[in-house]
Amino acid sequence: MDEILQLAKEYNLFVIEDSAQAFGAEYKGKKVCSFGNVACISFFPSKNLGCYGDGGMIITNDKVIFEKVKMIANHGSKERYIHEILGVNSRLDALQAAILRVKLKYIDEWNNKRIQNAKKYSEALKDLPNVILPTFKNYSKHIFHQYTLRLNSRDKLQKFLKERNIPAMIYYPIPLHLQPAFRGFAEEGSLPIAEKLAKEVISLPMHPDLVDEEINFITNSIKEFYS
Ligand SMILES: *Cc1c(COP(=O)(O)O)cnc(C)c1O
Repeated sequence: MDEILQLAKEYNLFVIEDSAQAFGAEYKGKKVCSFGNVACISFFPSKNLGCYGDGGMIITNDKVIFEKVKMIANHGSKERYIHEILGVNSRLDALQAAILRVKLKYIDEWNNKRIQNAKKYSEALKDLPNVILPTFKNYSKHIFHQYTLRLNSRDKLQKFLKERNIPAMIYYPIPLHLQPAFRGFAEEGSLPIAEKLAKEVISLPMHPDLVDEEINFITNSIKEFYS
């Protein structure tokens, strides 16, 4: 974040924090969503703070953005029956909000359990020479929405794990700039690190209630793959 904020300052850019997988994460003592001009959170059911349908939140300290975003989410309207701009229907419905209010009480506990699970994964996998593990930094709190490995033979590993009913997933197989929707903005090869990572990443099952037996089964299977 330090480097991104520095660049943004230098070139007078807005910073939008996509925190859809990072609710509760921290960087140098500050919670994510508090660094940029705007931050976005997803409450999609699969997220670490998820509701039971679609939902999301935008966080900002900027009054102008706040007013505008509120308007966009409500059909471009501030005053009833007057539509100042083109908006969308993106209100968080009350039922989802009620679910989130309950889940919010548990999120720190759940995030900490994810971190414990991540540490167990890393401890079990640390001696595998061909696998790059996620890092733990003392200045940040990674809440491990995903526990993601980097390795060369990831498609083969994914197949091997699938045969044992272990769902290891690829997030994400295609980097943003190569999506058809963005064709014309960037060419293949123009963001070589993103392209390399998209071919190397694989995420192991991760949720707060993983038990040791499951973690052992998964990590032993990976070790067997490499033996
Ligand atoms: C899920 C996700 C999104 C999209 O969230 P929606 O609720 O579908 O809008 C965006 N960015 C990241 C990193 C995500 O994980």
